[in-house]
Amino acid sequence: MPHEHEAEHSDAGRADLRADCGRCFALCCVALPFAASADFAINKDVGQPCPNLRADFRCGIHTHLRQSGFAGCAVFDCFGAGQKVSQVTFGGQDWREAPHTARQMFGVFAVMRQLHEILWYISEALTLAPARTLHAELRQTRETIERLTHGSVQELMDCDVAAHRSEVNVLLLRASELVRAEVRGRKKNQKNHRRADLMGAKLKGADLRGADLRGAYLIAADLRGADLRLADLIGADLRDADLRGADLTDCIFLTQAQVDAAKGDAATRLPRSLDRPAHW
Ligand code: SF4
Repeated sequence: MPHEHEAEHSDAGRADLRADCGRCFALCCVALPFAASADFAINKDVGQPCPNLRADFRCGIHTHLRQSGFAGCAVFDCFGAGQKVSQVTFGGQDWREAPHTARQMFGVFAVMRQLHEILWYISEALTLAPARTLHAELRQTRETIERLTHGSVQELMDCDVAAHRSEVNVLLLRASELVRAEVRGRKKNQKNHRRADLMGAKLKGADLRGADLRGAYLIAADLRGADLRLADLIGADLRDADLRGADLTDCIFLTQAQVDAAKGDAATRLPRSLDRPAHW
């Protein structure tokens, strides 16, 4: 067990928060609705299986999702909620075998995904050495959320996710402040772009070290060669943002889905916990 004030290894506690589609009953392909758009080629209602879904719960167009107009699927991440609901909450019984459970299973999946996303961020905060004074509190909160994820169907359906989310958000904000304060010369409130509209912004080569980009709209922004080290990117919309040559080493709260939705190249530097997307 790690020392109370020691930062955890970047992947400690996150293995269960990675999607394992082989152990999931394709919940994202059924439970979630689609609206025909640049991300999805078709409309689909909640609970309606995608027509590309095969009988073995595999995607029939997995190798060419983007080319087939399903880029939204290529960037979706359930943070491991799919296999947890399939194998733990519902004990390995799928919605085809037991159609009477389908509605509950899909409802629980929506809750579980949010809980797992919260766990992902807490686990990341536990790797941040400058936030070590918060680690005991973060571990306690992680235990509480973990316990919830092992609850019954009814307990999960009754769970007040929004309340847990805002409680955790306070801790994440404090962790973010402590990390971003490490950037030398950062004046208070400097580089605060929280929820800023930066769609298509020309930020080529910008010095965004330690910037607060929480929830910023960076859709199609030009971030080529930008320095985003120690920037907080939680919830930032990076769809089609150009990250070629950008430095995202040690930026915080960036997820694989955000990276997968952006453009990049071999020169883009990513945090160690994230993979370079195959399409870059
Ligand atoms: S296109 Fe494939 S990955 Fe996307 S919802 Fe349909 S079956 Fe699932």
